[in-house]
Amino acid sequence: MKTALITGSSRGIGRAVAETLSANGYAVIINYNKSEKEAFDLVEKIRSDGKVAMAVKADVSSPDEIYAMMNKVYENFPSVDVLVNNAGISLQKLITETEIAEWDNIFNITARGAFICTKAVLPKMIEKKQGAIINISSIWGNVGASCEVAYSSAKSALIGFTKALAKEVGPSGIRVNCLCPGVINTDMNRMHSEETIAELCAETPLMKIGSPYEVAEAVLFLASEKSSFITGQVFSVDGGISV
Ligand code: NAP
Repeated sequence: MKTALITGSSRGIGRAVAETLSANGYAVIINYNKSEKEAFDLVEKIRSDGKVAMAVKADVSSPDEIYAMMNKVYENFPSVDVLVNNAGISLQKLITETEIAEWDNIFNITARGAFICTKAVLPKMIEKKQGAIINISSIWGNVGASCEVAYSSAKSALIGFTKALAKEVGPSGIRVNCLCPGVINTDMNRMHSEETIAELCAETPLMKIGSPYEVAEAVLFLASEKSSFITGQVFSVDGGISV
């Protein structure tokens, strides 16, 4: 059985990814930071279906917490076959009002967190000569968003990370790809009014916002052997809004 570690999988897209990978035969490691109850409820739900799951706390902006998480992971599983760097926060502010600490925090969670988690899983992937890493960037990492310069920049870093890492670890049999979701129906977008969501739907060729499970299906594909000749790629899952 293959093992998948999904950062930030207590809620939203990460949770949908954990559920989808579990339903498709993966043992899933559910990383959470603040939402302990949601993470353990998900583990219980997955185990009640006869599947394998484990929840591990780590704030991915803390290297020490990532190292402690990985120790627990390797106490329970021989290796990680699939890493989904999904944990993230949003920040909507003019750049002139963005504090240095806020900039650092969003980069530490998004870019440095992905870097450290990746470093932690790579040695065993290299040993096995197989593995898939999927980075969850954003439409804004691809095209940039006004009033979200810090968020867009951190998500762009994940795109560069994906392309460079794919070249570096491809010869070791490891594939690295990136998804750029558009507007997805999760807590991250709860602050939007109904009118704003209606406007976003109207701007989207498919005339709707996305479900986290629609992102999860793309992750499943990139994790699986069905995408065995795909690496270093950046895919939009956005209903066509970026076209
Ligand atoms: P969400 O519903 O707000 O969930 C965020 C998840 O990330 C939660 O599980 C949260 O865990 C976790 N997380 C946040 N900070 C963390 C930290 N420091 N350490 C570990 N986990 C942390 O957001 P979402 O919409 O599912 O977003 C998931 C990813 O997709 C993010 O990277 C986001 O930028 C990206 N994305 C989302 C959209 C969208 O429209 N929703 C669009 C493009 C990209 P706890 O609750 O346990 O703290």
